[in-house]
Amino acid sequence: MRTPNRHPADGKKPITVYGPDFPFAFDDWIEHPDGLGVLPSESHGAEVAIVGAGIAGMVAAYELMKLGLKPVIYEASKMGGRLRSQTFEGTDGIIAELGGMRFPVSSTAFYHYVDKLGLETKPFPNPLTGASGSTVVDLEGQTYYAEKLADLPALFQEVADAWADALEDGARFGDIQQAIRDRDVPRLKALWNALVPLWDDRTFYDFVATSKAFAKLSFQHREIFGQVGFGTGGWDSDFPNSMLEIFRVVMTNCDDHQHLVVGGVSQVPLGIWRHVPERCVHWPAGTSLSGLHRGATRSGVKKIARASDGRFSVTDNWGDERQYAAVLVTCQSWLLTTQIDVEESLFSQKMWMALDRTRYMQASKTFVMVDRPFWKDKDPETGRDLMSMTLTDRLTRGTYLFDNGTFANGDDKPGVICLSYSWMSDALKMLPHPVEKRVKLALDALKKIYPKVDIAGHVIGDPITISWEADPHFLGAFKGALPGHYRYNQRMYGHFMQQNMADEHRGIFIAGDDVSWTPAWVEGAVQTSLNAVWGIMKHFGGHSLPSNPGPGDVFDEIGPIALPD
Ligand SMILES: Cc1cc2nc3c(=O)[nH]c(=O)nc-3n(C[C@H](O)[C@H](O)[C@H](O)COP(=O)(O)OP(=O)(O)OC[C@H]3O[C@@H](n4cnc5c(N)ncnc54)[C@H](O)[C@@H]3O)c2cc1C
Repeated sequence: MRTPNRHPADGKKPITVYGPDFPFAFDDWIEHPDGLGVLPSESHGAEVAIVGAGIAGMVAAYELMKLGLKPVIYEASKMGGRLRSQTFEGTDGIIAELGGMRFPVSSTAFYHYVDKLGLETKPFPNPLTGASGSTVVDLEGQTYYAEKLADLPALFQEVADAWADALEDGARFGDIQQAIRDRDVPRLKALWNALVPLWDDRTFYDFVATSKAFAKLSFQHREIFGQVGFGTGGWDSDFPNSMLEIFRVVMTNCDDHQHLVVGGVSQVPLGIWRHVPERCVHWPAGTSLSGLHRGATRSGVKKIARASDGRFSVTDNWGDERQYAAVLVTCQSWLLTTQIDVEESLFSQKMWMALDRTRYMQASKTFVMVDRPFWKDKDPETGRDLMSMTLTDRLTRGTYLFDNGTFANGDDKPGVICLSYSWMSDALKMLPHPVEKRVKLALDALKKIYPKVDIAGHVIGDPITISWEADPHFLGAFKGALPGHYRYNQRMYGHFMQQNMADEHRGIFIAGDDVSWTPAWVEGAVQTSLNAVWGIMKHFGGHSLPSNPGPGDVFDEIGPIALPD
């Protein structure tokens, strides 16, 4: 299924991740037939170091290769980064999505690459959607079964209405979404820029608790909102975050209409690695990133310093040292002090402050493979699904069920259950435990919700688990900005605009989830990577074409507003 992102069935103009901080049409820029720009011929074939083979590194490398540069990718861990689809041992493509798993169709720059690679996507089995079939909400020991919101007690509808009213009342939600649909830059800037100073200092919880819509309801309404939330599930883990970050997610529909990539999302970064572009400057037909690298990336980077000739000296974990005119760093920014010895003078002290203040969310997932999608069997007494997508205040928090379809002979393929997907304190409860204990804890919690269902009896193969915060190459799942972090975000996001920087700070670029305004959503990582492509093109003396201006060409005019220091 080609993702219905740009042309929704309802005929309305689509909501996309268009701003609101920097309303630049990245999707149009990368789809324009004239290409992203041109580089002076003497720079053709020049090497650029790319630190990290996640989606940001891969997209930048691919686009820079098309412009005629030679990206040299370094990866310390697994290619694909936080788009990691792990295959259950011995199976033919039965996978667990350990990082990103559900991709809002508003992520149009990301889907540009998904579609280019011809990958199939389908609706993600989120709560109360057709794709999940049924949902069980289990709160304070009470269990509710629903196929749609209206099947739940009235209290839940009141919570959903209060959230919609709070957004309308506190942030002119409808007007902002209309400006996004219309791609009306002046209107969007006027509406959004008014919210930035009002909400940078305040938390998501503050917004909910002080909104008129929730204030007139009970504490229990707020609790339910935190546990069950909206769109993708419970959001109380985000309650301490900056409200601006939550606004961005809901205004750009990141929490809505999400698809999964059939066969695993890591096919996207790995597909870009192998893809042969239709058109490449300088490189012969048939060139791919994989080909340029002879099939493998270089290993992790341990040191980045200014070389005596003014270029950058990049040293990998095996001690190999190479010189580059530009470096793009896409790994999480804390790694610039914990994993990589970065010469301090490469960034200003204000930039270091921003890089180091980045705050990460923890996330843990535990998966099992099961013999078949048994949850679709009906309970003979109630006629309901035996088990459903489950949201609960218990340890598991979110349980997701993945039906992998049928074999050609009609047998069900093994199914996959994400027994538990949790964030922050709930993820920390799992952190010290080995996979077997995590599975046991999750099964024990689910037994209380489904006393009659023998989930363990269906488990086959070895379970899979992850805690991103336990991995030295990540240290956390994704950024979650705190109140007061807008200025740091703005510094990092705008760092690709290097024309007015001191010479000693130029030539090193940053991109990825940490630099993004919508962390935890891959679209932000892709968009920052495209900003870096523009910055690197400029660094080599190139420019975008007048027919297709790039992000840097309009940044001074429509970039994120500055708050006073
Ligand atoms: C648990 C979880 C759930 C998520 N859910 C969703 C979702 O449902 N939808 C969605 O849109 N997004 C989701 N995301 C976010 C999405 O996965 C990220 O935004 C995106 O993958 C980030 O890509 P990146 O290239 O910026 O960073 P990364 O993928 O982290 O890539 C950086 C790479 O740098 C490498 N590296 C680290 N140190 C070094 C070194 N010294 N030298 C060389 N390489 C190094 C790392 O190994 C890594 O591969 C989720 C993320 C997580 C973790």
